[in-house]
Amino acid sequence: MNGIIENYKEFIDIGDAEPISMGEGGTPLLRSEYLSRKINADIFIKVEGCNPSGSFKDRGMVVAVCMALHNKKKVLVCASTGNTSASASAYAAKFGLVSAIIVPNGNIAKGKLSQAMAFGAKIIAIDGSFDNALDIVRKLEDYDEIEIVNSINPYRIEGQKSAAFEILDEIGEIDSLCIPVGNAGNITAYWKGFNEYSKKFNYKLPKMYGFQAEGASPIVKGEVVENPETIATAIRIGNPASWGKAKEAVTNSNGGIHSVSDEEIIDSYKNLARKDGIFCEPASAAGIVGLIKNTRKYNFSGQKIVCVVTGNGLKDPETSEKHANTKIFEVNSNIDDILKVIR
Ligand SMILES: *Cc1c(COP(=O)(O)O)cnc(C)c1O
Repeated sequence: MNGIIENYKEFIDIGDAEPISMGEGGTPLLRSEYLSRKINADIFIKVEGCNPSGSFKDRGMVVAVCMALHNKKKVLVCASTGNTSASASAYAAKFGLVSAIIVPNGNIAKGKLSQAMAFGAKIIAIDGSFDNALDIVRKLEDYDEIEIVNSINPYRIEGQKSAAFEILDEIGEIDSLCIPVGNAGNITAYWKGFNEYSKKFNYKLPKMYGFQAEGASPIVKGEVVENPETIATAIRIGNPASWGKAKEAVTNSNGGIHSVSDEEIIDSYKNLARKDGIFCEPASAAGIVGLIKNTRKYNFSGQKIVCVVTGNGLKDPETSEKHANTKIFEVNSNIDDILKVIR
């Protein structure tokens, strides 16, 4: 298993550090028959929940950890809505580092916390939001043994751009990319990746469309959101670290950034499972909502489009339990009763 550092070493500069991998990247790019029919276009889904810790965060983490090891760091620290901590603590476990994660108390999906626990992270729950947690983490930057692995770490972006390379390698140039936006590192990374690859291989650049949750849409509103609220916990962020870079990606690509409601997110989240067989976490469905909602506005019909589905549904079992509306039939264990249900 090569991983993204080896696969794209020409584009990911790690100097003379030793490449590492947990098999991140190389995720499925599936054509959605349902969405392609619905909006009369060629729609592909990049299934990032298939990364080692279940989200795209692993692409950036592997590079950040590679450099942390090279620079003799001992502790990985991050603020996290969940997936960054799951990823950091997995790589820390594998490569012999300590991970310390700072999370907003009570606001992190169960599956993600279970991962950090299983990997043996030091879990610090603060009385505050993700944005408060990130403020604290920034103050730890000056301690020699500590590596901050939030997306303010430039190596995170360097790794995450590999997803753009994979798309171009697999299906060639595309017209548009639809992606959820939280801290805005990922949209920044895709745009960087598309630009670097396009320069080298002469691909046309796609338009970048980012989508925030209504209750956590600072970039759309143009102002910091003090108490961000959304069911999509991975994008519950009021003051994105890569705000400016995200705006640049959207403006320079001639794309757009909009908000989508929790209700719409849940609707697409359910459809993605029922019609495409992809179980994602709620935040991951934001790009698809945006695609559907803005089809007319942006003339998506007839285009070749990739929607990034960022994380695995198993991370947030409570949401699926609550919203799947699937009844469990309780019957006696005899064939007749069971057949009655099946038929
Ligand atoms: C981190 C994350 C996001 C948001 O990505 P940003 O780079 O913060 O914009 C979206 N979905 C999932 C599942 C995530 O883990």
